[in-house]
Amino acid sequence: MEFFFDIFQNLIDQFTNPKKRVFVLYLFLSILIATGWLIFYKKKSLKDSFKFIFSRKIFFSKSAKSDYKVFFINQIIMLLVSPHLLTQITIATALYFFFFEIQFIEMGLFSSAPQYLIISLFTLTHFVVDDFSKYIVHRWMHKWPFLWALHKVHHSATNLTPMTVFRTHPLEGLVFTLRSAFAQGVTISTFVYFFGSGVDLYTILGANLFVFLFNIFGSNLRHSHIGIRYWKWLEYILISPAQHHLHHSVAKEHYNKNYGAALALWDWIFGSLHHSEDTDNLTLGLGTEDDQKKHTLKELYTIPVLEFLGFFKKRFYLLFGRKKKVKDESEIYFKKSLQ
Ligand SMILES: [Zn+2]
Ligand SMILES: [Zn+2]
Repeated sequence: MEFFFDIFQNLIDQFTNPKKRVFVLYLFLSILIATGWLIFYKKKSLKDSFKFIFSRKIFFSKSAKSDYKVFFINQIIMLLVSPHLLTQITIATALYFFFFEIQFIEMGLFSSAPQYLIISLFTLTHFVVDDFSKYIVHRWMHKWPFLWALHKVHHSATNLTPMTVFRTHPLEGLVFTLRSAFAQGVTISTFVYFFGSGVDLYTILGANLFVFLFNIFGSNLRHSHIGIRYWKWLEYILISPAQHHLHHSVAKEHYNKNYGAALALWDWIFGSLHHSEDTDNLTLGLGTEDDQKKHTLKELYTIPVLEFLGFFKKRFYLLFGRKKKVKDESEIYFKKSLQ
């Protein structure tokens, strides 16, 4: 009984916790921004804008329905798994003692810096390092066939809704939880080592100031059918919703572009930036003939694991000289994604 209550509480938390992407205020502000965009840029009436935003075709599509199922199932899985995972505090503590042990630079070197400076710097670094680690891991997800076997669950969405952000294989969820713990652990330990106990975050409603800003300015529209574009200069710095839509496009020219989560800077620096285009007629998905069949639970949970394991099985046979053909669909998609 208690377990069911925990599941329910976890589900509610996603919408009531300002640290979460689909916190109701962020969703509401995304609707407001989308309405403004449709009225002022697309010249639609208010009524037509609402009709377009709350399109039944999108929110009741096969793709969206599987987003909702994955959201629900993953909440249960994470509830069972997360107590056993490494946390940022464990990593931060281990790293802190490691720095303490090697003492290559004096401990507390900058601890006399003004408090506001320490907190501002920490708040910014916390956000930037986390965002950079998202970029790197996302890039790996596309680069390595065994990771692509998992990440293609996210890319199998043929419509985008704010819930598509949860459409990830649980093993990818695991990788991203560890990534987050590691990125934050590194930032916390480094700052505490150099700046001492004055390290703190500027927060709004408990969320990092920059995460809060990212979310109130329509982060949920990255997974939506509203292709908001930014000015060209701004798309070098921040990923616009339309830029993330291109990341989901099946068109060859959009492959391996716009990996960034909030900042486009990384894409710009590492050569994977693609400026937005009009995304009204964009086809989304994996680009296979049977994309509409990729919404079943078997496709979303079982097949990725088989392909993930199949990749290692294939390597094992290659290593030990057995000639056996192992079906490895992930490689087919992988090659496709590199074309
Ligand atoms: Zn991706
Ligand atoms: Zn996405």
